[in-house]
Amino acid sequence: MKDIIVLKFGGSSVADNEKLKIVAEKIINMYEKNNNIVVILSAQGKMTDKLIEEAKELAKNAEKREMDALISCGEQMSAAKLSILLNSLGYKAISLTGWQAGVYTDNTNQNALIQNINTERILKELEQKHIVIITGFQGINENLDITTFGRGGSDTSAVAIAAALNAKNCYIFSDVDGIYTADPNKVNGTKKLHALSYDEMLEISSEGAKVLHNRCIEIGEKFKIPIITKSTFNNRSGTVISDIIEENTIKSIIKKDLSRVSIVGNGIIRNIEAMKEVLNIIQKNKLDMLEFDVTESKISITFKNLVDDDILEEIQNNLIKKESI
Ligand code: ASP
Ligand code: MG
Repeated sequence: MKDIIVLKFGGSSVADNEKLKIVAEKIINMYEKNNNIVVILSAQGKMTDKLIEEAKELAKNAEKREMDALISCGEQMSAAKLSILLNSLGYKAISLTGWQAGVYTDNTNQNALIQNINTERILKELEQKHIVIITGFQGINENLDITTFGRGGSDTSAVAIAAALNAKNCYIFSDVDGIYTADPNKVNGTKKLHALSYDEMLEISSEGAKVLHNRCIEIGEKFKIPIITKSTFNNRSGTVISDIIEENTIKSIIKKDLSRVSIVGNGIIRNIEAMKEVLNIIQKNKLDMLEFDVTESKISITFKNLVDDDILEEIQNNLIKKESI
């Protein structure tokens, strides 16, 4: 059997029928090269938000069990639709819910942890050369009740299923084509990173960049599954998150809570030049610092006042060398 490849598509990639067609085309292209394709889907667009809002209109504090029963429906809709489409295009596909795919969790509704994945059904479908489409974000607990993994949890489904299948890698497709040196919507001249270590990605996520569900990075690291973030809507290379043995380049500048700036890069603790440069910029711009924290792969500075995005740009332009990423 060839290597298994896991592809995950986010909510904006499956938002409507036209987008589903683009997703189907991508899947077919990969299936033609490798028949072992497992697809994990999010709910379409803002479907999960909509379901939550509608439940709130009915009850202020709905039972958590029932909320999971409700919000898990979004993924079931997108998975079934994609399967209908692929089958109509002549490719045998099958949609599976969390429980059909053997995803077992603990009992924590809305923030369930995956305990075990029984891959029997998935493997059986793959053996028959079916494209297996699995609902993200959900599993089943010991009472056979549906559980969900917290907002954005389909990423975690994807990497966990990739780990259980010992997949070659796990692609996370969305409307952005990778991880950037800073938020491209706020900072000019950002660059896409080709590679990041799991640790760096965890630091970036913990500082508030909502690119990936944190838990998926931890699972990727634990089971050594390379996670590749790519765009659904172009063919540009994405960012590969994997083990990097040794390297010390600065990767990313992030702002959290408007007054905390973090600079991430493996081995930054030994980068005296970078520290000097950052302090220089702070002094030059007369910024009031409350805290300056340094760890192995992150410098975090908390300022007294809000920090302008221009400062991020200045740090980025001075610290991140084009040729090094
Ligand atoms: N549909 C869920 C959410 O909107 C899970 C996901 O998309 O990853 O949070
Ligand atoms: Mg997401």
